[in-house]
Amino acid sequence: MAADSKDVVVELGFVEKTPAWKLNSKFFPSKVGGWPAWLALKGLPTPEELACRHCKKPLIFLCQVYAPFHEKYETCFHRTMFVFVCRDPDCCRDNDAFNIRVFRSQLPRKNDFYPNEPAKEVEAGAESPGAGDLNHLCRVCGALGPKTCGSCHVARYCSKDHQALDWKGGHKAECKNPESVSKRCSKSTAKLLFPEYEIELEPEEQEAAREKTEDEVMKEYEELLRSGQVTHQDDDDSDTENDLVNMATKETDKQFQKFRTRIKDYPDQILRYDREGEPLWVSSSNKVTQVPDCPGCGAPRQFEFQVMPQLLVHLKVDSAGQSIDWGTVLVYCCSQSCQQDRSYVEEVVFKQDYAPIEEVMKNQS
Ligand SMILES: [Zn+2]
Ligand SMILES: [Zn+2]
Ligand SMILES: [Zn+2]
Ligand SMILES: [Zn+2]
Repeated sequence: MAADSKDVVVELGFVEKTPAWKLNSKFFPSKVGGWPAWLALKGLPTPEELACRHCKKPLIFLCQVYAPFHEKYETCFHRTMFVFVCRDPDCCRDNDAFNIRVFRSQLPRKNDFYPNEPAKEVEAGAESPGAGDLNHLCRVCGALGPKTCGSCHVARYCSKDHQALDWKGGHKAECKNPESVSKRCSKSTAKLLFPEYEIELEPEEQEAAREKTEDEVMKEYEELLRSGQVTHQDDDDSDTENDLVNMATKETDKQFQKFRTRIKDYPDQILRYDREGEPLWVSSSNKVTQVPDCPGCGAPRQFEFQVMPQLLVHLKVDSAGQSIDWGTVLVYCCSQSCQQDRSYVEEVVFKQDYAPIEEVMKNQS
């Protein structure tokens, strides 16, 4: 992960299929999907904190980024950001992140949960220490599970929602034999979770950020037209190269062009990590301009990372019909990474979506 100095380039995240045991808490992973690999193993976010701000139903774990800050703060020897999202497409609205919540957890090197030295990468005992050792976790989503099944008194849940889901998904049958009830729900119920991947981070090569030649811009623009993402007005003689170049440079959203150009060399990037940097906006509309200061310590919040639209491909949510989506999800954190006597501090998140084409045209004039 990046050092603190600001000459560091942006780090790009890519998904990687990795054996599940390597994604446990003790290995401090950056990952997508499955259960969260909680960092602080006590004081997990409450079901209220992990509820969707639109529908109040439990959010599902989307991804976590291990991003220590130890050069500056002793308390941040380990530090992980956790992102949760509501599964309900109805809660997914343009340029509104009320269906997403982000939490920051951090620990000094000497802490109550992990040894001073990195754990050996072996499968045996990989789950421990884990939040399941110290808490009852919801057997569906891996969040805190304060609710207990009334008949077997073994199965634990974060919410009535996940209990109902699990009941239909197989717990009804196993509930009669409390000894057979495991800590995790059946595979079919677990489909509610996103597929699990490790996130590998690597620096974006400087060269990738160079300006494109006119030819390259042309080619890109033609691809855009072909893909139907951008339509150009039909006038009789607009087919010459010059006209197209004009279109590319004048009539489409410059920011969207910039976005496309910047990710072109790494089309698979699912995350951009650039603490204290500038986000890569997907549109010139609805950029984040007002970021509230940290309510805990009063320090300004700063940009830390963004989740890219490419992640949607791996989440298997973009099948037929309406689904959750985003242009980009932007996470801003307390610049002091303050502790606030809490294991998990909520930070702010924004969602920027692609501007509708009519708006794009209007903005150019
Ligand atoms: Zn919701
Ligand atoms: Zn749950
Ligand atoms: Zn039961
Ligand atoms: Zn703060």
